[in-house]
Amino acid sequence: MKLLVATSRTQGTRENDFSFCVEGELIWIAPCCEAGEGSPDSDCGCGRSFGGLNSHGGTTTALVAELPGFTYSDYTEALRSSLAAQGWPPDAAEEVATGLLAFSDYWEVGTVLERRFDLFVERLVPAPPG
Ligand SMILES: [Zn+2]
Repeated sequence: MKLLVATSRTQGTRENDFSFCVEGELIWIAPCCEAGEGSPDSDCGCGRSFGGLNSHGGTTTALVAELPGFTYSDYTEALRSSLAAQGWPPDAAEEVATGLLAFSDYWEVGTVLERRFDLFVERLVPAPPG
């Protein structure tokens, strides 16, 4: 299935990029604080970041990836335990999973995305050398 994972691709394109996730880990689009809603370039960074399900860190770059063999129930379970561990209601896991899958489905596999609060924009990845 098509999902969002953390990527270091295109990191540094924006001066305030950051990546505290593990490369390739599952990520979600977490709700923002007020500062993050007010500006994606706020100091906290929540309005421009995606949250790692395992690391609980943030990254400003997400990759749309195809994970063969990964199922909807794997996904909701991963979300459920991560939400619980981070103090979010674990009951929201299915709703979050459904939303993220619909979101991911919209993009081509290999697309790198950035977040501007509630707007998501594709970053152009330079072609590999040679
Ligand atoms: Zn914030």
